[in-house]
Amino acid sequence: MATIVLDPGHGGSDSGAVYKQYNEKDFNLKVALMIREFLLESYVVNVWMTRTKDQTVSLKARTDFANEKKADFFFSIHHNAAGGTGFESYIYNGTIPSSTKEIQSIIHKEIVFTTDQYKVFNRGQKRANFYVLRNTRMNAMLIEVLFIDHESDLKLMLNDQFLRDVAKAAATGVAKALNLPQKPKPQSQPGTDTLYKVIAGSFKEEKNAEERAKMLESNKLEAYIYPIVINGTRFYRVQAGAFSQKENAEELVDRLKTIGIDDAFIVTEGQDELSELLKPELVDGFTITGSSVLTAKTMNDFIKRVNPQAPELAQLYLNLGKLYGIRGDTALAQAIHETNYFRFTGTVKPEQNNYAGIGTTDSNTPGASFVTPREGVLAHIQHLYAYATIAKLPEGQVLVDPRFNLVARGSAPTWIQLNGKWAVPGTNYGQQILAIYEEMINLEIDAVNKFMDNLEKTKQQLQ
Ligand SMILES: [Zn+2]
Repeated sequence: MATIVLDPGHGGSDSGAVYKQYNEKDFNLKVALMIREFLLESYVVNVWMTRTKDQTVSLKARTDFANEKKADFFFSIHHNAAGGTGFESYIYNGTIPSSTKEIQSIIHKEIVFTTDQYKVFNRGQKRANFYVLRNTRMNAMLIEVLFIDHESDLKLMLNDQFLRDVAKAAATGVAKALNLPQKPKPQSQPGTDTLYKVIAGSFKEEKNAEERAKMLESNKLEAYIYPIVINGTRFYRVQAGAFSQKENAEELVDRLKTIGIDDAFIVTEGQDELSELLKPELVDGFTITGSSVLTAKTMNDFIKRVNPQAPELAQLYLNLGKLYGIRGDTALAQAIHETNYFRFTGTVKPEQNNYAGIGTTDSNTPGASFVTPREGVLAHIQHLYAYATIAKLPEGQVLVDPRFNLVARGSAPTWIQLNGKWAVPGTNYGQQILAIYEEMINLEIDAVNKFMDNLEKTKQQLQ
């Protein structure tokens, strides 16, 4: 089993950098403890710490400790000061093991992927002659998370959600860099290990979120502010609590109403991560080919909330999508967008069974008609297949899409690439489809998890 030594910089009589009433040593310890927690929670690994409390430990004692433990990796956590802003990482500038640069790069990128969302400046991957890097006989890295004496950096350092996000990214980076095996996940019962967060307001303006947080605090409630990007728009959410039991979260929502906050709502961790991951660069990479993650029931219910008369096509989309290797659930999101929840408020009429506006080049052209709903769905899937691939139709399949051969084959492997092609001008076409898709996924905890796995793969491919 791999052994990691986490080294929270400074401690005890050595405060590290000091600014106002804040000491660097405390932030270092806090982040290091969070990294330990994330590592132990998710990976098979030994984690040792050079200190676990506010304690004086010499630099020599730290490196001796790591050398004695024959650690595989030494990870020192610091915060910066004196005239700068942003995140940076260091490895030794002398002779190092051949893998150190690669490890630095993986961990650094993972952290930056997260800090970018907080608009933190990336100061880069650096090398220096630091004692703890020089005197450790294993791969060693030191991070300077932010600048304690830079006001906006300090503000983030005082935001626990930020520190948790950074710690989680650091742990993920370490796990990737060292190839740590994942702990087998206990089969999760919905609701058992889900965290229900109570959001007491979500604001586009940070100062409004701060006002809300103050109001909560004056009512003796806790408040964290964290930024989140949803469909490309940044919001500042005010979190008033997080619970493993949904009932407790609901109680807090009720209590918030008594102090005049009636726009509070509950989200799960998974939903948040999903929204974070649907950041533009990942949306850009989200492919038309792939597997579905939603169940037919979730999708049919979703559509019927808006249009109770809608036909139940979800199972057809899943089956035919699977046959062609197309994401049938996302294709249905496209059909929802095209038909306005199957209310057919555009040029296409319901009896055409044309769910994707095939052949409706302008408002005077009614477009293609299909004999049955199945044929309509099949034509839709085939049309996507034409855009996303250059492959022949699957064995034994008959072409029903009348415009298949007019498509520039393989010209749009991703949903966003349909912009200006499937729809003209359609500048936001793919994003609108994915927004509907995201809404549906948020209804299903299992789908959130599957989708996360899916996106994790997409993310890796993008690196
Ligand atoms: Zn330091």
